[in-house]
Amino acid sequence: MLAPVRSGLLGGTFDPPHIAHLLAGEGAYRQLALDRVIFMPAGLPWQKADRVVSSAQHRWTMTKLATDQIDYFVADDREVHRDGWTYTIDTLATFDLADEIVLILGADAARGLPSWERSTDVLARVDLAVVPRPGVAVDEVEQAVGKARWLDVPALPISGTMIRQRTAVGLGARFMVSEDVYAYIEEQSLYRNDDGRRKTKDGSRKL
Ligand code: ATP
Ligand code: MG
Repeated sequence: MLAPVRSGLLGGTFDPPHIAHLLAGEGAYRQLALDRVIFMPAGLPWQKADRVVSSAQHRWTMTKLATDQIDYFVADDREVHRDGWTYTIDTLATFDLADEIVLILGADAARGLPSWERSTDVLARVDLAVVPRPGVAVDEVEQAVGKARWLDVPALPISGTMIRQRTAVGLGARFMVSEDVYAYIEEQSLYRNDDGRRKTKDGSRKL
């Protein structure tokens, strides 16, 4: 029998994937003795977007670009190509039960975990690792998920929202994202004329 794989799972909108995501993945890989870190862009009801090019496609391409050079980072498309909202608990069910999964969450995401679909089942299936994020206190997270395993990663005041807003006003995202992702954002003119906020109620972004 094959030895069980110990994977970190880092999910997100990844709009775009940025250096705080990469640092979280790196911290988890080194500090938790993982075999690999899976970067999984979330599925959104992108089919409802009224343009041909889907945001899901861009987010997937950027996630590939951000992780391609690192052999222990893997981009996984099992959520992004699914229609509609996807629940973490359903995604977890697609992994082999023998595989260990460490769910890597930024502090804001960890704080919100109790509102997730079947959150107790999620917590029963995975180990949790939390990455500090500016503006979110340790207490708030631990009230939500109990005593947490905190990764030693610098808390960076960087977000997808900030990058979209800065790009929209011409400040650019260079060095906040990998060079390949930066080149892709420029080449595709992503986030131009964008106020950085979600455009539609269902959470999809029209690019
Ligand atoms: P947005 O502003 O669009 O929400 P984001 O920067 O929060 O973008 P997401 O794709 O929403 O990025 O987040 C994916 C995961 O990465 C979440 O668990 C989130 O908490 C974590 N994360 C994102 N940015 C940071 C950061 N600067 N520090 C710590 N964790 C982060
Ligand atoms: Mg976010």
